[in-house]
Amino acid sequence: MTYDVQSIRQDFPILGRRVYDKPLVYFDNGATTQKPRCVVDAMTEEYYNVNANVHRGVHFLSQRATDLHEQSRETVRRFLNARSTTEIIFTRGTTESINLVTSCFGEGCMQEGDEVIVSQMEHHSNIVSWQLLQARKGIVIKVIPISDEGELLMEEYEKLFTEKTRIVSVTHVSNVLGTVNPAKDIVRIAHEHGVPILIDGAQSTPHFKVDVQDLDCDFYAFSGHKIYGPTGIGVLYGKEAWLDRIPPYMGGGEMIRTVSFEKTTFNDLPYKFEAGTPDYVATTGLAKALEYVTHLGMEHIEAHERELTRYALEQMRQIEGMHIYGHASDGGDAVISFNVGHIHHLDLGTLLDRLGIAIRTGHHCAEPLIHRLGIEGTCRASFGLYNTKEEVDLLCQGIERVRKMF
Ligand code: PLP
Repeated sequence: MTYDVQSIRQDFPILGRRVYDKPLVYFDNGATTQKPRCVVDAMTEEYYNVNANVHRGVHFLSQRATDLHEQSRETVRRFLNARSTTEIIFTRGTTESINLVTSCFGEGCMQEGDEVIVSQMEHHSNIVSWQLLQARKGIVIKVIPISDEGELLMEEYEKLFTEKTRIVSVTHVSNVLGTVNPAKDIVRIAHEHGVPILIDGAQSTPHFKVDVQDLDCDFYAFSGHKIYGPTGIGVLYGKEAWLDRIPPYMGGGEMIRTVSFEKTTFNDLPYKFEAGTPDYVATTGLAKALEYVTHLGMEHIEAHERELTRYALEQMRQIEGMHIYGHASDGGDAVISFNVGHIHHLDLGTLLDRLGIAIRTGHHCAEPLIHRLGIEGTCRASFGLYNTKEEVDLLCQGIERVRKMF
């Protein structure tokens, strides 16, 4: 299959709109992606023709909605190559998936003084959730340092393990630097120390094929809205042995088998972790999005975005005063953080917006990393499967224009 980006763009109605009378250039895909028509249509169709609560009714609509919901779980299973749908838990997104692990693993498997290893390049969701557990239980947070080029120092990682290490929790891809961490090695080293590992896949799943069995990770988290699916839905993959071992997350309907005031027993996996009515329309939308990217081919999406990133780096490096963070090696993902001369990132972002170019500015919910880089923030251009070299040219022209104003 040839990757025809112009025809792919037709699937995303929003890309045809104008902003301040300029064609929209959407380079904020790291924050959230745009939605193809098939995702919105599938959700509209469900609301118009199927809607009923899942897992509860004997009636036609409830059974049909339940079928769609469970088929969506199977689509996620296939997408991640998990062993079983019992290992796929629907959550509201990466943040909730991580918090589920910190709460349940923290509750079931950690005591005061026990240690978690995270890295310097984590998103706040993978820092603050552990800090909350630290406040509740007195756990210790250890941090893998990074090099000046924005790569994990693997030999330092190995040195952090002690007999108190209970879990490792690291991101697959940095949402600021685009660094793709050597996830397989990170997992292997954790397992050599007998420690399970959670991987934050918020910025990996949209860009390349992820196989949780091949990675051999114990938990894997991602968000639907960052992979062309709806907001408010995400996934936690967990190995069955761990999910069986840790206590439930929230209490309520659907996660129980029997309830009495004396004793409650919990439902089978994955429902033990899914209290309350799930966003079953969003799971349909998520499944559509995963089918959409699978149909395009994750390997084609990856190749397209790698080429776009390579081109963008080449063009951007020619701009006077350009400072690009990370991307020391060729393997960086479709995220470029930069500053230009002494222009404040907020000014640059605001002026680019006036040219119809949407980028992100600030600390990108990764303040410890930004501090490590010795700066206050960056501009971030993050690419999606529909972006083009012409759009990169518009970005570079826009930056040049702003630069000349300062
Ligand atoms: N982890 C990383 C690496 C991210 O980039 C993000 C969002 O930007 C998150 C976690 C949180 O994702 P969400 O807000 O969808 O829960």
